[in-house]
Amino acid sequence: MCGIVGYIGHRQAYPIILKGLQRLEYRGYDSAGVALINENEVNFCKTKGKVADLAAKVSSKISDKGNLGIGHTRWATHGVPNDTNSHPHVSNSGNLVIIHNGIIENYESIKKELINRGYTFSSDTDTEVLVNLIEEIKIRENLKLGRAVRQALREVVGAYAIAVFDKTRPDEIIAAKLGSPLAIGIGEDEFFIASDASPFIEYTKNAIYLEDEELAIIKRGHEVKVRKIKDDSLVNSTIQELKINIDQIEKGGYDHFMLKEIYEQPNAILDTFRGRLLVNEGIVKLSGLENHLDKFINARRIIIVACGTSWHAGLVAEYIFEDLARIPVEVEYASEFRYRNPIIYEDDVLIAISQSGETADTLAAIKLAKSKGAFVFGVCNVVGSTISRESHSGAYTHAGPEIGVASTKAFTTQITLLSLMALRLASAKGIISKSQLREHLIELELIPEKVKKGLQSDAYIQEVSKVYKDTANFLYLGRGYNFPVALEGALKLKEISYIHAEGYPAAEMKHGPIALIDENMPIVVIATKKGHYEKVVSNIQEIKSRKGKIIAIVTEGDTSVKELADHVIEVPETTEFLTPLLTTIPLQLLSYHIAVMLDKNVDQPRNLAKSVTVE
Ligand code: GLU
Repeated sequence: MCGIVGYIGHRQAYPIILKGLQRLEYRGYDSAGVALINENEVNFCKTKGKVADLAAKVSSKISDKGNLGIGHTRWATHGVPNDTNSHPHVSNSGNLVIIHNGIIENYESIKKELINRGYTFSSDTDTEVLVNLIEEIKIRENLKLGRAVRQALREVVGAYAIAVFDKTRPDEIIAAKLGSPLAIGIGEDEFFIASDASPFIEYTKNAIYLEDEELAIIKRGHEVKVRKIKDDSLVNSTIQELKINIDQIEKGGYDHFMLKEIYEQPNAILDTFRGRLLVNEGIVKLSGLENHLDKFINARRIIIVACGTSWHAGLVAEYIFEDLARIPVEVEYASEFRYRNPIIYEDDVLIAISQSGETADTLAAIKLAKSKGAFVFGVCNVVGSTISRESHSGAYTHAGPEIGVASTKAFTTQITLLSLMALRLASAKGIISKSQLREHLIELELIPEKVKKGLQSDAYIQEVSKVYKDTANFLYLGRGYNFPVALEGALKLKEISYIHAEGYPAAEMKHGPIALIDENMPIVVIATKKGHYEKVVSNIQEIKSRKGKIIAIVTEGDTSVKELADHVIEVPETTEFLTPLLTTIPLQLLSYHIAVMLDKNVDQPRNLAKSVTVE
């Protein structure tokens, strides 16, 4: 997956592209490149490394002038990250220039055929094959660029969001998509192309989100024309008005996006339940759920599919749905589910959770479930994302843009939303009374303030981080609702500090992980008052007997654990099923501070990307 940006209009393209690529760097950052047209000449600059490396190279190597250009920040799928494999790629004639997000699966056979026809290739990418296929078709059939691209795309298998131009026609960019996202910003006599709207949000609030298998002809002085790739038919695309603003996608005084996003959680959670949690009326209103309550109530079971942090939110939701709404739930890794020939009934409901709404495996799982007749409900953050469009219905978390690659507010807002759903279903089924529901709603409404209070431990957590930053391994333990939180805590640490960490249900410790415990092993134990507290205290005793170092997350005012643990981090008290929303916060901060102390790239950890749009 990668970030793509294009511009055609009256301004200088380069500053727009550069800033846009910086905003899209969360999507990939192993190499970057740009191509600009100036007076019928194309200036290229490509480099291994980050967008900042590209900027340095551009300023010393090429003219940055021109008001048509395209740029790319890459997450390599075919060919190592190096200058040559970086995008944009150019056709053999030197005329056609392309940027591509995705994978052309049948590139090898196309490449062979093109080689037979005399084409040569300088990179190892699938993308260079695509641009030459377009060229071959264009020359062979004497077609305009738009038609040649359309024809070529009919021959490829895979996923793509592309932008292509022809240097001999510097008034037009062709964009198309299948599987990977692509938005077109529509300004006054200018157009923007990007993987999401963040590169052009300060220039225009009007955008078209291309649908799969659509191609757009973006021409100076004309309206954007969108056609179906399959049959050339014209599409009447809706121009959407974007609601995000520029402050939401900048760091706002924090050192890192991740820290900003950790601190945004009180507001993000509030935004998730705003207008949905109506305490005075004692009801939950989720428009995406309201018309489909019967589907959920009569469901044989709910299958939750997700990946990474969203999968952990799904595990929390399993506990909440079964406990409150008494609907059986299975939670699956999307990547396993889609390939294991699962049994899916028509009366199953599939909940797909994905922050970006673009996760390739989750999307494939949705398609599979739909083909078997199941009802699909999407839980996404990014509005207009592919998963939100592919689902029968759904609800947005409204967490605002999440830029840090390690997910934080996405996780807590997903849990908030799933809790609202479970409460709505429990009341629709009549298994919780009005007064019980009201009590839960009152408690949920207090969560943002309690998260704020939990954040006050930040300075202390920083101290604790100092003690353990050089440790090679960590264990995270929790039970019940806090078992998935232990998994999430371990994942956060691995992702950004590269310290090995494992999460376990606390009781499982005796079946293996206990062998790892000695005086060098820090163990983070979630030991809040509600939910198996005594059992967790016993687990802590067992760790203590083996000299492990204990960092305990406890409920405010706890005394028993304090006596046993080396470090104690308090969180406010709340209803048991809501504790993950509070216990997660110190674990996020712990990972954050350790990674900063180790001088790691917190917002863009190595090998990772924000939205995983490849399998
Ligand atoms: N498959 C292309 C490559 O390896 C594009 C990858 C991406 O989406 O960044 O260069």
